[in-house]
Amino acid sequence: MESKFNEIIRFIREKYNTPEGLIALHEPRFKGNEKKYVNECIDTTFVSSVGKYVTRFEEMIAEFTGAKHAIAAVNGTAALHIALLLSDVKPEDEVITQALTFIATANAVAYTGAKPIFIDVDKDTMGLSPKLLEIFLLENTEAVRGFCINKKTGKRIKACVPMHTFGHPCRIDEIIAICNRYNIDVIEDAAESLGSYFKGQHTGTFGKFGTLSFNGNKTITTGGGGMVLTNDDELGKLAKHITTTAKVPHRWEFVHDRIAYNYRLTNLAAALGCAQMEQLPEFLLQKRKLSETYSSFFKHLGIEFVTEPKNCLSNYWLNTLVLNDKKEQTSFLEHMNNRNVMVRPVWQLMNRLEMYKDCQCDSLTNSEWLADRVVNIPSSVIVNL
Ligand SMILES: *Cc1c(COP(=O)(O)O)cnc(C)c1O
Repeated sequence: MESKFNEIIRFIREKYNTPEGLIALHEPRFKGNEKKYVNECIDTTFVSSVGKYVTRFEEMIAEFTGAKHAIAAVNGTAALHIALLLSDVKPEDEVITQALTFIATANAVAYTGAKPIFIDVDKDTMGLSPKLLEIFLLENTEAVRGFCINKKTGKRIKACVPMHTFGHPCRIDEIIAICNRYNIDVIEDAAESLGSYFKGQHTGTFGKFGTLSFNGNKTITTGGGGMVLTNDDELGKLAKHITTTAKVPHRWEFVHDRIAYNYRLTNLAAALGCAQMEQLPEFLLQKRKLSETYSSFFKHLGIEFVTEPKNCLSNYWLNTLVLNDKKEQTSFLEHMNNRNVMVRPVWQLMNRLEMYKDCQCDSLTNSEWLADRVVNIPSSVIVNL
């Protein structure tokens, strides 16, 4: 294995044209109008909650994704929180999501006071499994006055949050069809999948809401930022309202019509976002090229490289390998990180974390299988590959 690992290091260092020093997992690229737009914010003093870039960024995201409305938020977690609140998730409710996800998904559910239920993923997409979701709902719930009630807890299952893992779309059409039958709202955590399409439609635009993240390690970044997507006019308006302290528009009066949130994105961050959006199509092409290069390299090495699911276009946010077992995963992580090539395992499954260890789960067989084998390898855009 050692010699294979060294071959991988040589390959990655050559592609990144970095013979020594750290190769990050995913670092941002600022090759466009970033400085120009950010400087303009500074020069005009519009750095904060007022300015043209927030609206422009929202319009660019709506146009790119095809969502009717895009509402900027301070980060992806806040965007998820808002989507859950506007799906009427209450403290006494339950929300289904994946055990195999980043902590933000489960935390956003917890912010509402609701309890997450963790369902397994499909091995191929690494996203929520519609088959296993349906089995869980069939075995564990009953319809009471139109609501989906968990027979074990007596609580209402109000929403379901599938996640498009590492930018690979999950089987979102089947998930929505099932949730519709059970009267469960779908919120897509599309934080990792800007530029990923399921059957030609952008991820995050299938559910009642979708949410994006522009954290520093994502496909594009605003430093920190997020977006709520929805096709519902009323919900779009409400999302804007409660992310901006629910202030009733008036030239000088401060009237707020509910307890709401200061989740707005700053103009400064949005300026960065506009410049990044201008480069997104190019980033996506370059990421695709890198994934193709990786794919043929790992085929020759006899190591499984994850490619986009059928009928999907993935953004290849984080390139992914599936190794043979836990032991190989551990030695890979040690070998590569010791040599300054950043690689990492998938997140600790949510049900194994102290805060969520008592939450209801299904067998999580696939999640556990993947957690023992999956690693992400350097995936930053290479400009001249
Ligand atoms: C990045 C990410 C988020 C949002 O993260 P923020 O840092 O709050 O922008 C949410 N869910 C998943 C799966 C993510 O990867």
